[in-house]
Amino acid sequence: MKQTEIAIVGAGLGGLAAGLALLQRGHDVHIYEQAESFSRLGAGIQLGPNVLKIMRHLGLEAQVEAMGFKPDAWRSYSAEAELLADIPLNRRREEYGASYVTIHRGDFHAALVDHFPADRLHFGHRLVELSQDEAGVTLSFADGGPIRAGLVVGADGVNSAVREVILGPEAPLYTGYVGHRAIFPAARFRESGFEFLGNEKWWSDDRHFVVYFLDDAGEEMYFVTGAPEAEWSHGTSFAPSSKEELREVFADYHPKVQAMIEAAEDITKWPLLTRPPLSLWSEGRVVLLGDACHPMKPHMAQGAAMAIEDAAMLDRCLDEAGGLDGFARAFGLYEANRRDRASRVQATSNANTWLRTQEDPDWVYAYDVFSVPLVEVQSA
Ligand SMILES: Cc1cc2nc3c(=O)[nH]c(=O)nc-3n(C[C@H](O)[C@H](O)[C@H](O)COP(=O)(O)OP(=O)(O)OC[C@H]3O[C@@H](n4cnc5c(N)ncnc54)[C@H](O)[C@@H]3O)c2cc1C
Repeated sequence: MKQTEIAIVGAGLGGLAAGLALLQRGHDVHIYEQAESFSRLGAGIQLGPNVLKIMRHLGLEAQVEAMGFKPDAWRSYSAEAELLADIPLNRRREEYGASYVTIHRGDFHAALVDHFPADRLHFGHRLVELSQDEAGVTLSFADGGPIRAGLVVGADGVNSAVREVILGPEAPLYTGYVGHRAIFPAARFRESGFEFLGNEKWWSDDRHFVVYFLDDAGEEMYFVTGAPEAEWSHGTSFAPSSKEELREVFADYHPKVQAMIEAAEDITKWPLLTRPPLSLWSEGRVVLLGDACHPMKPHMAQGAAMAIEDAAMLDRCLDEAGGLDGFARAFGLYEANRRDRASRVQATSNANTWLRTQEDPDWVYAYDVFSVPLVEVQSA
């Protein structure tokens, strides 16, 4: 049977960040991903200075910075275009110690994939079973395996199979909200005559409209919404939407938002899912990170950031505990040093109040996973 020190299940943003960090530390790491390959998914992602510092550690900062757009600020508006907040992002780059970047999610993911050795990334491996004994963990896949690993990292997202094995089946909760998404050329939007400088969020009581650039040159724009939809009855992870639907949802929004809707073509909508905070982050030799552990509504643009911070902290705690043999202490330390922050971000994100008014975002953006003092495990 094939053996590895650390098996990571899921090659999403969290799994790849964990793989890169652990490999860099000298561990024998393999990643098992259910997809046969990855395509350039039509979505954007915002990466705060807390993430860019981790990219620096992984040797990817310059590439990510060069690809993405660097917004000067985050501006919040009411539906009628009253300015509610103007919060510095790269205007405070010096103080944060890294950039704030908005980027095509597919480009960011591809940069991580390309940086990870291809012979250690196994596509077409959907985990179906996992069992552990004193010496290690056995993983079985729908179409291969089994393999043995010393430790397993469950980085398999909101519908995590690893989580199900250690916690039992429990479907994620549909929040009653969807996110509409579309990518479109900035040139088409500019025909409206409106100016766009980057990162805007338009708010009303129960819905919002977020828009930002996806590339260094500011040629591609992306919007993502949050809007009520009582039930998700499509039975799929996303469904097609349309300009007509968005015009109705945002009927009372300013003409600038209408112009963005007009500029979009291929619009989809996605159910927003969550789970209550976890009582357990690891069991034995198996540990969870990212959405497998603490999925959230995307309203702070910090879900992937939490997955990537988890990955870096897990690596740091394993090192602190003296390597793989110290895994029990490492997993305890990892949870002790991630639970409060991930839960606070999860709660703030779900509440959807982040940067609506002129607040100080330092506790999120100034965080440095490598220098924050480690909290010891509290004995019960
Ligand atoms: C509309 C929207 C907008 C968002 N915007 C932002 C943003 O701007 N900034 C931000 O930081 N976050 C954002 N997020 C959140 C972010 O996308 C997630 O939090 C992040 O992708 C979680 O990363 P992950 O690695 O934990 O899981 P995922 O990225 O979901 O990766 C999980 C991987 O595991 C694989 N997998 C699943 N099951 C199995 C199995 N059984 N066996 C093998 N492999 C498996 C999957 O195929 C996938 O590749 C947004 C989310 C949404 C819905």
